[in-house]
Amino acid sequence: MDLGITGRVAVVTGGSEGIGKAAAHILAEEGVNVVILARTQSKLDAAVAEISSTAVGSIQAISCDVSNSESVDSAFKKILGEHGKVDILVNNAGQGNANTFDALDAETLDQDFQLKVHGAMYCSKAALPSMRSNRWGRIINITTAAGKAAGYSTLPTAMSRAAGIAMTKSMSKEYGADNILVNTVCIGSIRSAQNMKRAEEAVASGAVATTEEYYVERCKNVPVLRVGEAREAGDLIAYLASDRASYVSGTAINMDGGAAPVV
Ligand code: NDP
Repeated sequence: MDLGITGRVAVVTGGSEGIGKAAAHILAEEGVNVVILARTQSKLDAAVAEISSTAVGSIQAISCDVSNSESVDSAFKKILGEHGKVDILVNNAGQGNANTFDALDAETLDQDFQLKVHGAMYCSKAALPSMRSNRWGRIINITTAAGKAAGYSTLPTAMSRAAGIAMTKSMSKEYGADNILVNTVCIGSIRSAQNMKRAEEAVASGAVATTEEYYVERCKNVPVLRVGEAREAGDLIAYLASDRASYVSGTAINMDGGAAPVV
């Protein structure tokens, strides 16, 4: 299927690893000119080398902390200066932060919102003027289904993701008339850098014998009985970013092998 986005310009935050890297890779293979943002230059360089091997569009990396508005403004100034526009924004940078209400404090809550909610807001505000003037845009916010139905010990992530889902819906109402479509993908258990780190910690602590055993244990309650691959999430993100998804906006799609208790 031709996604119809050759020559479009995409920014993927958290694009150096996991889901963001997979989405960037697929978009670049589709002929999109992709800019990945993350903090660590060495990981960005490694991702660019990997994506370049099959990219049809260009691939570029800029070190940026999305939780810092000045860092975001500086990155987008560079992107808009070089590419003249941003057509597609994938607000993916983030990390799990799930614990009990007992363990929650103001600092943890603030940090989580700064990264996941403020970060997506800063990047969206930086990309929207160009999307508006070109009357074409796609914003895909990466969240998780705990934002729709919080499970036990899912704070503060469930709170910041509920905010991300609400922001998605509200933005879709505001920008639809400008042909800017805004959706969220609610991620379940996907093989990625942060999960591999947790798997390695579980092996080191003796909780499991291998990293694969960690994933098997983690996915016992997932209906399809396996962890998802980053590329599977990347395929959905690429579809939502495409011309083919031209009547899809304001949706929150679970990408979790059926694990969420809600649609
Ligand atoms: P990974 O741990 O594989 O990668 C995270 C990426 O985000 C890296 O590129 C990292 O680079 C970047 N990043 C982290 N903090 C910042 C920051 N402040 N500014 C810019 N970039 C940042 O993540 P996943 O692929 O697992 O997760 C992707 C998204 O999906 C996240 O939002 C996550 O919360 C969400 N999600 C993932 C789940 C899963 O099972 N994988 C489950 C539920 C939600 P660097 O550290 O160098 O900045």
